[in-house]
Amino acid sequence: MSRVTILNFHGVGPVTRTISDGERECWLERDHFESVLDLVVGQSHVRLTVDDGNASDLEFIQPAFARRGLRGIFFVCSGLLDQATFLRTASVRELQAQGMTIGCHGAIHQPWRGLNPQQLQVELAASRTALEKICGKSVDQAACPFGSYDRTVLRGLRATGYAKVYTSDGGTANESDWINPRTTITRSMPLAEVQALILRGPGTLRQASISAKRILKEMR
Ligand SMILES: [Zn+2]
Repeated sequence: MSRVTILNFHGVGPVTRTISDGERECWLERDHFESVLDLVVGQSHVRLTVDDGNASDLEFIQPAFARRGLRGIFFVCSGLLDQATFLRTASVRELQAQGMTIGCHGAIHQPWRGLNPQQLQVELAASRTALEKICGKSVDQAACPFGSYDRTVLRGLRATGYAKVYTSDGGTANESDWINPRTTITRSMPLAEVQALILRGPGTLRQASISAKRILKEMR
């Protein structure tokens, strides 16, 4: 059973559209992002994921991964493709051609918790089908928008046949688990904190608190 630390990125570089304060906190300056990646090089227990399908995925993030020989999973929203500031359909294929994995982040980037069955079907299944058509292969990993999930969402993800699901609960993950908690790298997170997380994990007390919160979320 090997434990991994999964980092999660969002937009990088100049902010290209009006975004909420919460999203701005997750949108990294280029230098900060590159410095985080430098800490990741050679750390074989660290996995990289990128959410939302921003245009910066192909403009800054993938090239920065490639310069360091890193790979990642890019969780894309099918319904936002080809809209201003987001990835184009062709860019998704380009990311894949560059060795990146494409995952599903739903259709229009809304929290999956609280949706009715029809809405959930569109977010979990129709979006996946749309991405598979673009990628020409199976898309079997999903990341919950805003890290929002509950029992109903997890049941829907299982029924849709996803092989792995990613949350934003922090802490480390067991590579063989179906639910994979990630740590969102934020604008205000000092590099020393990222380095400690990579080298030592979140610490026993923090990991215990993370695990307890997670169990409550899965049961609600
Ligand atoms: Zn998102």
